[in-house]
Amino acid sequence: MNPQAAQPLLVVGAGIAGVTAAVEAAEAGRDVVLVERDSAVGGRVLRNHKYFPKLCPPSCGMEINTRRLERSPRVRVLTRCVVTKATKATKATKATKATPATTATSAPATAHGPGAGGGWQVTLTHLPAYVTEACTACGACSEVCPAKVPDPFNLGMSQVPAVRLPFPNAWPRRFVLDRAACPPGCKACVDACPAGAIDLDAVEREETVEVGAVVAATGWSPYPLEKLPELGGGVLPDVISNVQMERLAAPSGPTGGKILRPSDGRPPARVAFVQCAGSRDVNHLPYCSAVCCLASLKQVLYLREQLPETKVDVYYIDRRSPGRNEEMLTRVASLDGVRLIKGKVGKVERDGGGALALRVEDVESGRLLTASADLVVLATGMVPALAQDPLPFAFERDEDGFGRDRIESALVVAGVARRAEDVAASVRDATGAAAKALVAGRRD
Ligand SMILES: Cc1cc2nc3c(=O)[nH]c(=O)nc-3n(C[C@H](O)[C@H](O)[C@H](O)COP(=O)(O)OP(=O)(O)OC[C@H]3O[C@@H](n4cnc5c(N)ncnc54)[C@H](O)[C@@H]3O)c2cc1C
Ligand code: SF4
Ligand code: SF4
Repeated sequence: MNPQAAQPLLVVGAGIAGVTAAVEAAEAGRDVVLVERDSAVGGRVLRNHKYFPKLCPPSCGMEINTRRLERSPRVRVLTRCVVTKATKATKATKATKATPATTATSAPATAHGPGAGGGWQVTLTHLPAYVTEACTACGACSEVCPAKVPDPFNLGMSQVPAVRLPFPNAWPRRFVLDRAACPPGCKACVDACPAGAIDLDAVEREETVEVGAVVAATGWSPYPLEKLPELGGGVLPDVISNVQMERLAAPSGPTGGKILRPSDGRPPARVAFVQCAGSRDVNHLPYCSAVCCLASLKQVLYLREQLPETKVDVYYIDRRSPGRNEEMLTRVASLDGVRLIKGKVGKVERDGGGALALRVEDVESGRLLTASADLVVLATGMVPALAQDPLPFAFERDEDGFGRDRIESALVVAGVARRAEDVAASVRDATGAAAKALVAGRRD
């Protein structure tokens, strides 16, 4: 048997796509190394309050997958770990494939031409493990910790102790510690920890692995609100993004699940959703992020459930809610107090009375209208992580930064790393990616 057939797969990114690709490949009999930059698996889905189409808590789908991970001795899960170097393992090499004009190639790796064969030699960097595997998640350290940091899980909208569980259903269930926030000389957590699980002197370490194929499942980040100052993004406190709205509505969020205006902590009486905020716009993201329309409709339902008297306007250019999600559109459109308005919002500013004024172009007549709201939610798009952090492999990327497979180099892309899509599509895509990687990893 070709020795390479036995080489493990490397999956980078443990969101829903990466975890799916890893367990599918493992259940097909291949060893997998699953590398995740954060301290727990799950990716961005876990930051949602509920997820469509069924509007169930996002932990439901993830719990099934973490159980599959727990049951699978073939998957080695490495959290707080990144890929820092990759070299195509030696085998006869041909010239590097020319990069088409419309694609960008990520950081160069050696010998990745078609038919090069061989796997990849990969350097993994383990970020310092200030809290070790001995942690039992008892919480004693958090209770004594004097330092507070903005909570990354809540997008900085609340403060948490420097040592804490990263989020309620975190897996692995282990605390994390932001060393940079510790006052000099403090070791209160070390003294409080009954398990001896805290090592304030931990250092980074490297490890080299040989893998047969690589799946990039590095997902996305939200388009920064600050890049939309004309819509009040980063300037007006009551202009928030769709991802912030998910955290405001979530019981584990900064307000305990109450949808409140950031400026005064009061429930909003009029909410405006601005669709395609920075998407399908050559000055920002030229593409449609595919899920933002449905995400806003879902958020209208959060408001309806919690604040039934609140008036809601959704400004859109085109409504995109394909397939069975059409049902949600019909449901939202029929709600009292909710208006779906075909109009492009060009400006959001403070009006005289403490509310927000929206300047809207009526798309059909071209007339300019003014509307008012006291909370504005910008439906910002998804930016592929590969656009900002290309990984040290020879992945091709399209003009928007989404990744493309290079099967001949045993490189496969999965989930939103490939295209903007929802969870169901990411899972389907990841299952296909696992199959492609299993085959590509056997080539010689
Ligand atoms: C506002 C909003 C609401 C949404 N609501 C829904 C919904 O209700 N239903 C639905 O189906 N979809 C929804 N989506 C879409 C959904 O979030 C995506 O489909 C899903 O996150 C895709 O999963 P993924 O695994 O591809 O990416 P991600 O969730 O982004 O996971 C990628 C993982 O890779 C890790 N990673 C990144 N770079 C590296 C690196 N260099 N090294 C190691 N690890 C790395 C990240 O830390 C992360 O854990 C919503 C999207 C938005 C914007
Ligand atoms: S050492 Fe750091 S994490 Fe530990 S208690 Fe002190 S401030 Fe908190
Ligand atoms: S680090 Fe120690 S004190 Fe903190 S939760 Fe883990 S076991 Fe408990």
